[in-house]
Amino acid sequence: MIESKKTKIIFGNNVIHDNKELINSLGKRYLIVTGKRSAKLSGALGDFLDAIRGKDYILYDGISENPKVASVLEAAEVIDEVDCVIGIGGGSVLDAAKAIACLGANKAVSEEELYKQKWENDGLPLILIGTTAGTGSEVTKVSVLSKANGRKSSIHNDRFYPTYALCDPKYTYSMSKAIAISTGVDALTHCNESYFSNKANDESRAYALKGISYLLPNLMRIKDVLSDKEKDDMYLGSLYGGLAIDITGTTFAHNVGYYLTENFHLPHGLACAVFQEDLFDFEEANNKEYTEEFFKAIGMNKDEYVEVINSLLPEINDTISEETLTEILPRWADNNSVKNTYGKMTVDDIERILRKHFVR
Ligand code: NAP
Ligand code: FE
Repeated sequence: MIESKKTKIIFGNNVIHDNKELINSLGKRYLIVTGKRSAKLSGALGDFLDAIRGKDYILYDGISENPKVASVLEAAEVIDEVDCVIGIGGGSVLDAAKAIACLGANKAVSEEELYKQKWENDGLPLILIGTTAGTGSEVTKVSVLSKANGRKSSIHNDRFYPTYALCDPKYTYSMSKAIAISTGVDALTHCNESYFSNKANDESRAYALKGISYLLPNLMRIKDVLSDKEKDDMYLGSLYGGLAIDITGTTFAHNVGYYLTENFHLPHGLACAVFQEDLFDFEEANNKEYTEEFFKAIGMNKDEYVEVINSLLPEINDTISEETLTEILPRWADNNSVKNTYGKMTVDDIERILRKHFVR
């Protein structure tokens, strides 16, 4: 149903139960990586422990939102004698588990070496079990971690592909409305940004549009009660979004969104959603025909689409002073995500956009 050349993606109800043999074939001792609550709350941890009953495991539940490299290094210390790594949670946990599996096979890697991707061996076998309909991290080679200086930064490496993504949408059902909205909007931004990436190709565009077709109708009603089938579609949409950005990466909207998460503590999806209108405005001005094709394909015009996205955003009262703006702009002067925005975006565009939103 969903194909990936790198990761075996298994989607459906009861995937853990139905794949016990496969799970048990990966070894004798498991490192299970989670956050504090969601792995248990979603039922995924219980199902997994049931599947490996009788086997030895270590549980590391120290991964927080916007996971720190320090937590990854800490988890890697308990990894001795472990045959494989299992990540159960939202994008934060899944991203951390990718790096932990890598460090498990490459001892004593520092933060700097991790970012410079200076490691020799393939990571340990890795199973990812997602609990948010959001990042699509289950199917990507990307890990987004926070450095010691507080900055979020992504690492893209083929060795981060999980061996298996076990995707059971029911594990997303325990999300609160607020988390469902912020993670669901993130999935939609992946589809948008992938479409408007300089690396977009026919395959990535097909994933992006497919993702939007699953996400958009449900995001339009997400403040009401969604049925299980609609929640399943949100999860499926998030996986298509993941497949899309795995090919293309994201745009300036994600990277400038990191700044809002770091400084205004906005959840990741909402932070990136702030800049979707700016993305469409930029594309309309610079790539009119391509932009028209996009809105035709999604069956909505720009204003309608922006209204759906902006209606999911909270009121943001934070501001950026002139002084801070001057200080932070160099961050985007030679930035891959800015360069990846379809067309020729520059740091001057980022200045204009940040001024519009935050300098008063
Ligand atoms: P998250 O940061 O993993 O989780 C947000 C919150 O939701 C946490 O408090 C978490 O609880 C809770 N939660 C997760 N699943 C739940 C469930 N089923 N029921 C109840 N609560 C649940 O959120 P996310 O949006 O999935 O991940 C965001 C991170 O992924 C960011 O760091 C972002 O930069 C990164 N990201 C990665 C990629 C990629 O391709 N790798 C793409 C986009 C974004 P616990 O703390 O208890 O687990
Ligand atoms: Fe994202």
